[in-house]
Amino acid sequence: MNEQFPTGKNTVSYSEVSTWASCAYRHKLAFIDKIVIEQNWIHARYGTALHKGIENYLKNKSLDLDAFSLELKDIWEKENYPDYETWNSWGITCLTALPEWMNSQFPDWEFIGVELRIEENIPKEDQIKFKGFVDCIIRIPLNKEKTRWKTWIIDWKTAGPRGWDRQKRSDELVLSQLYLYKSYFMQIFGGESREIGTAFILMKKGSKKEKCIDFIPVSSGPKSMEKANKMVINMITSVRKEKFFKNKYGCKWCPYFDTSHCSR
Ligand code: SF4
Repeated sequence: MNEQFPTGKNTVSYSEVSTWASCAYRHKLAFIDKIVIEQNWIHARYGTALHKGIENYLKNKSLDLDAFSLELKDIWEKENYPDYETWNSWGITCLTALPEWMNSQFPDWEFIGVELRIEENIPKEDQIKFKGFVDCIIRIPLNKEKTRWKTWIIDWKTAGPRGWDRQKRSDELVLSQLYLYKSYFMQIFGGESREIGTAFILMKKGSKKEKCIDFIPVSSGPKSMEKANKMVINMITSVRKEKFFKNKYGCKWCPYFDTSHCSR
């Protein structure tokens, strides 16, 4: 099959698949019609700055709080965002708590990589590849001799002070991000599924130092990975067939809701 994919690209990402799974019509507006809605990106911009601070720590095993504050200040000034001091203090609290938290959660952890780029063949698909960036990979020894290791694929998320509720923690669509990253990680590097753990780590805004980091391990066995890969195939098939059904139950957080682009 050599016809161009409707998005004009030969890759799909988790974010694209997840948008499609929430509402196929929303996927069409965002990824085919490429209609951009102005949104408030303050949380996303904070998340990017915090990610950099975390990466910096993981690579060097030492914190550079000044670099984080400077980066955040630069963004806040350029975008004219309010209340820099509060946002900065949230980030500093999380970063300051990170070293001790990492050492207790992942004793003897070793850094493997950050922002690992994936661009891999999708099983049973000959035109489109899966593309993504894995936030962080570390490993921990399973014995004193350090001859056996467990690898962890981690995705950092920023969240409000309460973190994620039970529904979000068990939402298969949310968890599919890690199912897919693990599946493609194994496609590249091999390894046994049981030797590779997956987790979201929440950095909570406005929480005290002792409570600002939440560990959400995600059980990602072969069946979960297979199911997530099936979702990707379904998405590609449906988009090729130009089936763009609206999901009126997904409108609450949709940027196209109540705009000229979607009258429902
Ligand atoms: S407003 Fe609702 S139906 Fe329209 S694109 Fe968004 S989620 Fe889909």
